[in-house]
Amino acid sequence: MNRTKSLVKLLLVGIVFVGPSIDAVSQGLTQSANTSQFMSIITTDPKVNSSDSIEQKPTPPSKSNVLASRVVVEGKYAFNEALKYHPLKSDYMGTPLKNGRYHNPDYPFLLSFKDVRKWKKQTNPFLEFKKTDTFQLPIASDLGWMNNDSIDGVAWLGHATFFIRIGGITLITDPVFGNASRVLKRYSKLPVKPENLPSINYVLLSHDHRDHMDYQSLRTLSKLNPKAQYLCGLSTSKLLKRFNRNGDIQEAGWYQQYQLDDQIIRITYLPTRHWCRRWITDTNKHLWGAFVIEVGGKVIYFGGDSGYGKHYLETKELFPNIDLAMLGIGAYQPEWFMESNHSSPAKAYQSFLDLGAKSMVPMHYGTFDLSDEPIGEPAEKLLQIATENKMTQRVLIPSLGQNILAMMPK
Ligand SMILES: [Zn+2]
Ligand SMILES: [Zn+2]
Repeated sequence: MNRTKSLVKLLLVGIVFVGPSIDAVSQGLTQSANTSQFMSIITTDPKVNSSDSIEQKPTPPSKSNVLASRVVVEGKYAFNEALKYHPLKSDYMGTPLKNGRYHNPDYPFLLSFKDVRKWKKQTNPFLEFKKTDTFQLPIASDLGWMNNDSIDGVAWLGHATFFIRIGGITLITDPVFGNASRVLKRYSKLPVKPENLPSINYVLLSHDHRDHMDYQSLRTLSKLNPKAQYLCGLSTSKLLKRFNRNGDIQEAGWYQQYQLDDQIIRITYLPTRHWCRRWITDTNKHLWGAFVIEVGGKVIYFGGDSGYGKHYLETKELFPNIDLAMLGIGAYQPEWFMESNHSSPAKAYQSFLDLGAKSMVPMHYGTFDLSDEPIGEPAEKLLQIATENKMTQRVLIPSLGQNILAMMPK
């Protein structure tokens, strides 16, 4: 009984206090890698959507078809049959599933309650400092560019939320405008109120964690932008339908490209080293990932949440000309526990190099307190690394609301 109570307590700790930042959920769901066995089970070839260019679009399916077109092959792979694949991944079998849950065979889910318990029993060396820490992200003095439709720009709004406007098309990533939950308090101000943001065409949602998918913020956005399209990973639309009544939501599997009305933009969903969970029993029932946005001659990588991994080098092969990489640098301590889901500043810097991106902008720090390190520390570490490597021209650490495109080297 005591063991059951202790498990329930740890589960609550996992969900309520550290839910968005850790992998530890249930040992019952712990998975192991067995790629060769995994591959040998597959007998059906689900090749769909042969590669083509951005101009060669097939007839778009209706929105309801886009939502209802998830295909699962023998319980082992899933994809959205309405969507194309990246041209170099046209033979990809689909996003792997294991026991009905999404699964990254390169980085299987390994942490357990034992690890959560170990972490929670450890003394956080920053505990005393954090009690009196008053860090707040700085806000740019001039936000006027945001309301000038003729100015291309990218603005960090805190945590993983970016406003992007290029060629008149507007996007927002993982919008969270206030607290991320009742217990995840926001420590830095939002630089601009949602009602003062320009209208949004595309809302990109990397995964279901509460510091990335916030119902209140999405409800607000939905009211302000009734025509916005929502782009997310497989099986995520059911979370969004409750406030998005027009159902303009597209789900993609890894390496799939969304079917967009605008001809000058292409968005691809890519794997990351992470996981999903919103409630107790839905671990990895929704897909997680990163986005590459190609618009107006710019290529932008939005990394979502991810531990370091080989997917960055692979992304460089698929997208050799990334201009700007948005990479998480916070929620990384203690590293033994967090590194399977999040990157330290050093690992994020290496990811930036692996991606071959021209510039990097850090995110996922300074807004919510998700882990042991003080919320402002990751940016200090990254600046130190960039300085040591003479890369401060390319590693950009903007104020909130600052036009990041204007900071990039010409
Ligand atoms: Zn996450
Ligand atoms: Zn996160």
